[in-house]
Amino acid sequence: MGNFDLASKLEDPSLFIQKAFVDGEWMAAGSGATFDVLDPATGLRIASVPDLDAGDLEKAIHAASHAQKSWAKLTGKQRASMLRRFHDLVVAHVDDLAIILTAEMGKPLQEARGEILYGAAYIEWFAEEAKRLNGDVIPAHQADKRILVLRRPVGVVGAITPWNFPNAMLARKLAPALAVGCSIIAKPAAQTPLSALALAVLSERAGIPRGIFNVVTSSDAEMVGQSFCANELVAKISFTGSTNVGRILMRQGADQIKKLSLELGGNAPFIVFDDADIDAAVEGAVAAKFRNAGQTCVCANRIYVQSSVYDEFAAKLAKRVDALKVGNGFDAGVEIGPLIDGNAMKKVKSHLDNALANGARVVAGGSSVQTGGQFFAPTVLVGVTSDMKVTREETFGPLAPLISFDTEEEVIRSANDSEFGLAGYFYSKDLARIFRVAEDMETGMVGVNTGLISTELAPFGGVKQSGLGREGSKYGLDDYTELKYVCLGL
Ligand code: ADP
Repeated sequence: MGNFDLASKLEDPSLFIQKAFVDGEWMAAGSGATFDVLDPATGLRIASVPDLDAGDLEKAIHAASHAQKSWAKLTGKQRASMLRRFHDLVVAHVDDLAIILTAEMGKPLQEARGEILYGAAYIEWFAEEAKRLNGDVIPAHQADKRILVLRRPVGVVGAITPWNFPNAMLARKLAPALAVGCSIIAKPAAQTPLSALALAVLSERAGIPRGIFNVVTSSDAEMVGQSFCANELVAKISFTGSTNVGRILMRQGADQIKKLSLELGGNAPFIVFDDADIDAAVEGAVAAKFRNAGQTCVCANRIYVQSSVYDEFAAKLAKRVDALKVGNGFDAGVEIGPLIDGNAMKKVKSHLDNALANGARVVAGGSSVQTGGQFFAPTVLVGVTSDMKVTREETFGPLAPLISFDTEEEVIRSANDSEFGLAGYFYSKDLARIFRVAEDMETGMVGVNTGLISTELAPFGGVKQSGLGREGSKYGLDDYTELKYVCLGL
């Protein structure tokens, strides 16, 4: 296996770290074990990072617990000013952070830059909110009583994040946690630990005290989940990833009634009504389906098109998708990078094969592998029906299945026929329909006449088996605080 020289690409090579970060120290695994991080575009080895075990985790949890007590005693304003500095450092190093992200995850460099700024926006938002952790005074039930409601940090947070947004998924957790006075132990996905470690470097430079933000790298995710769930010092687990692992954590957390935030899988419907602006819907579908090569939990997974505009939409989308440039995320103009690993390739291929075997047809792309790497040609399928794998399961790849429908009632029924409920999208110009459909869609988020909905200003999260809790916005503080009612006798 060859090596990828990441340090030489960076203006500030000290952002490239191959150690875990615990209690303010850069550490190797107690056992000395390491695991490799590979570039998904080339298969080259980028780094070897410590493969921590349960003993190492125990140390991190103790450190986070110890540090949290004094962190919680600072004023919101003090925490805010450190977070603000942290935000400014992230923005100042956006280019290097984007290079690290593209190297380990594969997304096009421009998209990686966008992710870094998106993640930074959460740090900025929650830095501001740290000063507004307002409680309440409630008129009392008796003349000699007073009722106060305080918001307290939950304590130590164990965060487990996925590889598809190695920076932003972590920023969305660490920012609210730190703002309210929690400490955090972050376990990034084994495929993409370097972005999390780079964030830790900048948190240290921002003056965030030792033990408050820890990054534990491990190839044994199950052990990390178990360590978090079994340790009473960990008050809460915040997880972004598959519904299946969310279920495991919920079961494991049951013994200690662990607080949980879960951002899980989706199977987003994207509906194009015949009164829509079709060109705008095509652009929205490209954004909602092909961003990050289709590897986001809010990606359009099932595209329903009303029968009278189906052929027009399919032809326009196919033309647009054929023009997407696929390649190494570092190459200029590339819009679709590699898939994360061989399993991802297999899954997309199996969804394509299953659809073709059941009567669907390819109108753009369709070749599974280009040039031997983990690249999947962006693909559009017509003649798709509701029973195919590609509509039942989350594809997590650049494969757009188009399903025809006749009535609003029918499409709402199909759209809601899923155990998932994260995001949904639709295009229409009819105001009454817009309200009806937005209200009837069983999802936590709805994009109307837009394919891009994520912002730190709005609550991100799902209903049904897509999760628990919300990230971002004023509501994002709730997941990291407990209400404490104080009854004051006079
Ligand atoms: P994906 O299919 O996107 O990799 P996962 O849910 O498997 O989704 O992974 C998301 C995160 O959860 C990663 O950091 C991964 O290492 C971690 N993970 C995987 N399995 C477990 C588990 N049993 N317990 C805790 N974390 C896990």
